[in-house]
Amino acid sequence: IPVDDFDLVIFGGTGDLARRKILPGLYRRFCSGQMPEHARIIGAARGEMDDAGFRDLIRDAIKEFAKKNDCDDEKIGAFLQRLHFVTIDAKGEGGWSDLRDLMRDGVVKAFYFSVAPSLFGDLAKRLHEFQIADDESRIVVEKPFGRDLATAKALNAGLAAHFDETQIYRIDHYLGKETVQNLMAVRFGNILFEPLWNAQYVDHIQITVAETVGVGGRGEYYDKSGAMRDMVQNHLMQLLCLIAMEPPSRFEPDSVRDEKLKVIRALEDIDHHHIVRGQYDATDTEQSYREDAGDPRSRTESYIALRCLISNWRWAGTPFYLRTGKKLKARTSEIAVVFKDAPHSIFGEDAGRHANVLTIRLQPNEGMTLKVTIKEPGPGGMRLIDVPLDMSFADALGEEADDIPDAYERLIMDVIRGNQTLFMRGDEVEAAWAWTDPLINGWEARNDVPKLYDAYSSGPEDAAMMLHREGRRWREVK
Ligand code: NAD
Repeated sequence: IPVDDFDLVIFGGTGDLARRKILPGLYRRFCSGQMPEHARIIGAARGEMDDAGFRDLIRDAIKEFAKKNDCDDEKIGAFLQRLHFVTIDAKGEGGWSDLRDLMRDGVVKAFYFSVAPSLFGDLAKRLHEFQIADDESRIVVEKPFGRDLATAKALNAGLAAHFDETQIYRIDHYLGKETVQNLMAVRFGNILFEPLWNAQYVDHIQITVAETVGVGGRGEYYDKSGAMRDMVQNHLMQLLCLIAMEPPSRFEPDSVRDEKLKVIRALEDIDHHHIVRGQYDATDTEQSYREDAGDPRSRTESYIALRCLISNWRWAGTPFYLRTGKKLKARTSEIAVVFKDAPHSIFGEDAGRHANVLTIRLQPNEGMTLKVTIKEPGPGGMRLIDVPLDMSFADALGEEADDIPDAYERLIMDVIRGNQTLFMRGDEVEAAWAWTDPLINGWEARNDVPKLYDAYSSGPEDAAMMLHREGRRWREVK
């Protein structure tokens, strides 16, 4: 579906995120015909560069980061004609009038802040002072949105001084994934699941985001944050909200975000027996986390597992187990809803009992699987086995699967459309920090030392023990 004509300014347009994700994503939207004929993208960053230099930079970026079969020199050339560049300093006066002169009236104006968060306030202020943005303009901000409640509040205040909340789009690219939206379609578009979606029928829920990469070259940066701030406070929390929230009355930004906020506010405090923090160890050939971080005494976690409880009528007593970590066995993100056993086995205990599990895979191979119990085929009597009802998007959609927009593409187009449903609202972000702050402060006060885990394993033994104590086990990371 085509969008309205727009001028999109990317502050930090020469940076890593712009080259790896934003511009290759926009190029794909251009190829799919979604970009209006006159729409333009304006890179704005520090450093001398002209339009031609910016176009060369982005040509190389598309060739490096877009999917191979997307790269067609003619199409890339046509896309590059849409690009312009302005040298700008967020902290100075230079370049701002040039940007104002370049912007068109009567089109959607969007400003992507792909720069360090410390510059968000400066950019908002100058866009206002130089009368570049108007009441209809939109701004997009990247993570990290603060490192605790106080810094998040300060960022929100810096933006709110010049923009209304309805103009602010806080990106969490997890929300742009096809499966995440499908989660809502499955929950609220079918009659099958919702009646079972509560403490009475669900035994527990697991949310896993496992990465195989370590912190590598950005170790020093990562060491100031850790898995809780880097992954749980935003991505895992957002997934938890979508899984646990009450049905919104409409699929509209504030209806959805109101329900998500209620989930965060209903989260119980966690005691330290239900938090396991880990750090990956060295292998024969690779460095340990501490070496990567450049601090032999670092106590920052590269892995975390938590048991969360939601204090409301629907979920009372149902554990939500969350885990995420680096240098784990496999790269996988999934949500698994593990249902309770059937209350009585008419086939006798010997036949075996199996719980239904609905798994929503975010990566790799986006899709869903429902594990159901059937009779083992053959003459061997009534023995029960599990079989997966499997829906892989790639298989279901065939060649069309290639056209599924990547998370960034979808979210940027939502900005142009003015649809905030898949973006975090300021109060949501603050509520999430209000919940994580005491946990982080707690382990800092205790001088908690993370447990070491073998690189490329499934994480620290203590995380397995945490579930074992409750008669459960983590799903295999594979
Ligand atoms: P980067 O260091 O590669 O690029 C920074 C960009 O900002 C450059 O274009 C630079 O010219 C510009 N810039 C710096 N100071 C400026 C100033 N005073 N005025 C105007 N422009 C200025 O950073 P990045 O990796 O692209 O990250 C950008 C933002 O996105 C950061 O907030 C980062 O945390 C976030 N982010 C990045 C990634 C990623 O994969 N790189 C992922 C998620 C979030």
